[in-house]
Amino acid sequence: MPLVDLTANYRSIRAEVAAAIRGVLQTGAFILGEELKRFEIEFARYCGSRFCVGVASGTDAIALALRALEVGAGDEVITVSHTFIATVWAILRCGATPVLVDIDPDTYTIDVAQVARAISSKTKAIIPVHLYGQPADMQPLIGLATAHGVAVVEDACQAHGATYQGRRVGSLGDAAAFSFYPSKNLGAYGDGGAVTTSRPDVYERLLLLRNYGQKSKSEYLIKGENSRLDSLQAAILRVKLPHLDVWNRRRQQLAAVYKAALSGLGIGLPMTQPDRSHVFHLFVVRVPQRDRVLELLRQVGIGAAVHYPIPAHRTVAYSELSRIHLPVTENTCDQVLSLPLYPELDARTICQRIVPALRHALQISG
Ligand SMILES: *Cc1c(COP(=O)(O)O)cnc(C)c1O
Repeated sequence: MPLVDLTANYRSIRAEVAAAIRGVLQTGAFILGEELKRFEIEFARYCGSRFCVGVASGTDAIALALRALEVGAGDEVITVSHTFIATVWAILRCGATPVLVDIDPDTYTIDVAQVARAISSKTKAIIPVHLYGQPADMQPLIGLATAHGVAVVEDACQAHGATYQGRRVGSLGDAAAFSFYPSKNLGAYGDGGAVTTSRPDVYERLLLLRNYGQKSKSEYLIKGENSRLDSLQAAILRVKLPHLDVWNRRRQQLAAVYKAALSGLGIGLPMTQPDRSHVFHLFVVRVPQRDRVLELLRQVGIGAAVHYPIPAHRTVAYSELSRIHLPVTENTCDQVLSLPLYPELDARTICQRIVPALRHALQISG
């Protein structure tokens, strides 16, 4: 069985999707049309933020949010190395310098004490990543950022719908970046992304930045990109958004099934902090002999995976960042293992196939 099965999800909403696509095709408005506007209003409302701007991907969402906050050459942006590579790339793409810090070993999210040590006079923004679906510890982070006059951009690409102290991600910082890559908790049928913000100045700049910097026809106020969420994807996301809470609850139920079935095996299970909700974009455990366990699971057809085996500062492409040592990150990357999880997976498959296979793999690899 796969790590994620997108066809099962499609089957559950096929008729609604067909009607939405047909609707867009009939209007002929494929870029920056009504569907996008409606989705932006609905997604902003869902997140509890004032504004939403649809863009072409999660990577663009991070980069454009930074540019909207006037982050550029000479500025430092603090984030984690234990993330999808796009977080780090988006910073470099703006001309800024990523300053990578370690994570909290329980939540896998940014360690706020490390951020405090890394802040300098050049720091312009901090990007906490709500990794695997659990929000980072935002309250002390925002306190620190405010004290230093530094912006906070949430990387919420894995956490659509998750909450921190009762508030949804996307409403916690100066801006937040979302990805609608197909396998995300809220996924399009292609690439897509969005920035949410409650700051009118950031919103106005984002509208320009995603559309060549164009104010009106042939009037370019700033240098902007071509990065828009297209109408077909917006229409599909409008079909899916009303289901998101149900799908997230289902992920949480399946995570509870996993946790009950895996307790007492001496492996690390995901820990949800009491002031947060975790939407389990991924169900990640920690095991000894991880590579061997992964291989054994794959041999019996179980689509386990690793997010992420190599931290950003250890990748070939980012060798200029390799001089740092992040012990928790490096240790985590050697142990984490993602098990299959998606809303349509059934509990029986977890209990009768995946968990027994994992137990067996742990025994023979140990
Ligand atoms: C998916 C993801 C991104 C990038 O999103 P794309 O839509 O693939 O560009 C950025 N950060 C994190 C944490 C992600 O999971």
